[in-house]
Order: sequence, then C-alpha cells, then structure tokens
Amino acid sequence: MSTGNLTIDLDAVVANWRVLDAKSASEVQTAAVVKADAYGLGVEKVSRALAAAGARRFFVAVAEEGAALREALGPGPEISVFSGHMSGDTDMIHDLGLVPMLNSVEQMTRHFEALPGHPFGVQLDTGMNRLGMEPGEWSALRDICLAQQPRLIMSHLACADEPDHDMNRRQLLAFHDMTDGIDAPRSLAATGGILLGSEYHFDLTRPGIGLYGGFPYEDADPVVELDLPVVQIRDLAAGESVGYSNTWIAEHPTRVATVSGGYADGINRAISNKAVLFHEDTPCPILGRVSMDLIGVDITHLRENPKMLTLLGAHQTVDDLAGVAGTIGYEILTQLGSRYSRRYARGRT
Ligand SMILES: *Cc1c(COP(=O)(O)O)cnc(C)c1O
Repeated sequence: MSTGNLTIDLDAVVANWRVLDAKSASEVQTAAVVKADAYGLGVEKVSRALAAAGARRFFVAVAEEGAALREALGPGPEISVFSGHMSGDTDMIHDLGLVPMLNSVEQMTRHFEALPGHPFGVQLDTGMNRLGMEPGEWSALRDICLAQQPRLIMSHLACADEPDHDMNRRQLLAFHDMTDGIDAPRSLAATGGILLGSEYHFDLTRPGIGLYGGFPYEDADPVVELDLPVVQIRDLAAGESVGYSNTWIAEHPTRVATVSGGYADGINRAISNKAVLFHEDTPCPILGRVSMDLIGVDITHLRENPKMLTLLGAHQTVDDLAGVAGTIGYEILTQLGSRYSRRYARGRT
C-alpha cells in the first residue's frame, strides 16, 4: 500500500472542545463549527464525537453541508447555516430542520414568506464586510425580526487572532450598539474571540479551528498525523539532481527517499526545497520540487532506511507547515487530500 496514512485523533478534538468550552462561563453555550467537512477531517466522525461529548449546536457554511450533517447526527442537535437562506435552499431548510442565519433583507423576506414560523437566526455585519446586515438595514428590520423570535443574533470578528488589534474592540462596540437590550441569545466569538476574554463570549461561542488543533488556540492538542510511505530509496553522487526542473543538486553523496504524496494530495508546492519530514525526532529536508504524487527527501543522516516519514504530527503541526508554505493552518487542513487512507483514533478511551 502506498497511499499516505492520515490519522485523526477524535479524542483530541473532543479534548480541545472541552477546554474551549471551559474558557467561557458555564451559562455560555459552546457550539462547534464543522463547515468544509469539519475543516477537512470528516464531518460525520467529528460531529458524532462532539455530539457524544455534549455539543448540541453545530454550524456549517452552506445548506448542503447541513444536510450531510443532519444525516450524521440525526434529529436532535441544532444545525445553523452561516450563508443563510438562499434561493433553492427552502426544502432542505424545512425538511432537515436547518436554522439559517439570515444575512440581508432579501433573505429575511424569503425566509418569512417561504417558511413562516421556521426557526432562524440573524447575522449582523460589525465591520468585516463579508456577511450580515449593515447597521442601517438592521435598525429598519429589527422590530419585525425580533417579533419572530430569532434563535440567535450573531456577528464575526475579522482580527480576533491578533489580540491587540483595535478592530476587536470596535467590532465589540458595534455589536453592543446593534444588539443591547435585545431579548435573544447573542454570539460574537469564534476560536480567536474565545481567547480574547469573557466580554466577547455573550451567550454562545462558535469555535472551529481550535477544535482541530490550530492557531490561534496555541495550546490545542494536535489532532492530525500524516505519515507518507517511502516508495524507493536511491544514492546520488555529487552533481546529480532531484525532481522536476533540477531545482536541487547534490553537493555531496546523498541518500534520497521518494515518498508517496504530492500536490494532488493537497501538499502545497510552496514547501518544495523548504519543509522537512520527520523520522522519529530527526528532521529530513525535502529535496527539489513537490510533484503531483511524490516528494524527494534527504535521509543521508539517518542510521536506518525508514518505511514512513511524517509530514504532520507532534514535531510539525499544521501551523508549522503553514508557516513554511506561507499560508494558514486552516488551509493546510482543508486541503488534506482524498487519497490518504484515513484512520480515526480514539487513543485515550
Ligand atoms: C469559520 C467561522 C467560524 C469558526 O472560526 P474559527 O476561526 O475556525 O474558530 C465561526 N463563525 C463564522 C461566521 C465562521 O465563518
């Protein structure tokens, strides 16, 4: 077998959820954001593990994801949809009991006309200018909307992973301006907002990346390990090259392991000639370009020929690799390929 092995530690996901839950007061509910197939880790397994641990409220980006999640979770837990009520979503929202976060007058009109009495929430824009109603729009609709008893009034922070950014406070004040005195549950914080402190927590928090072991939750338990099998080993003389376009040339005799895994598996080409893989505790540099299915790795300094080399794990987190690739942990996770053989570990039970 030559596909990479991706191990996803569901106990670590649950442990991260519990720690983030414990960071807010007991009356603050902690939801779980499982959009994009639970950040690439598998929405069915991840959401079931979280539901079993006590999560009762889940968020997805689009109604189609809500449908898959309802299938995984069954009828109990509440499933909310950030993109709201789009045209064509009505049957899914109705039949699967999804809760759209209405983002505009248009969505609100659509929802109240198509599904009167069906639960909904409202997303407000407090400065990110991505989704949600603007202050002017909201003040015109507020009374009509509140009469229908929204399940949640929410907004999203643009800079929560930078605690000192003054945008955080500006958005907090804007959210207070738009929602103080309202008798509906409120939510402002994702992972970064939870870590900003209790004034950002309101009634419900919405962590995503922190559950999956990523920054800005620096103390998270690592969730993923990615091991790539060595397909072939060869010895190079000085002057020989490795990979496409000869971007790496041996200065000394070098032993090269070719591992199975490449950009078709979501391994970013930007790590070519830069990142390392690990054999136990020993880093082994990538030689040359990442190909579609293969990567060359320097193992000259190892005492044995390895069977596998580790790209993600305790020695190199998703954020470490993201740093080398010039991206963010979220992207490393959501790019993890479909070719890996995936194993869900419950290591601590
Ligand atoms: C993705 C998302 C979240 C979760 O954010 P993390 O940074 O992954 O914790 C929460 N709320 C909204 C609106 C989102 O789009």
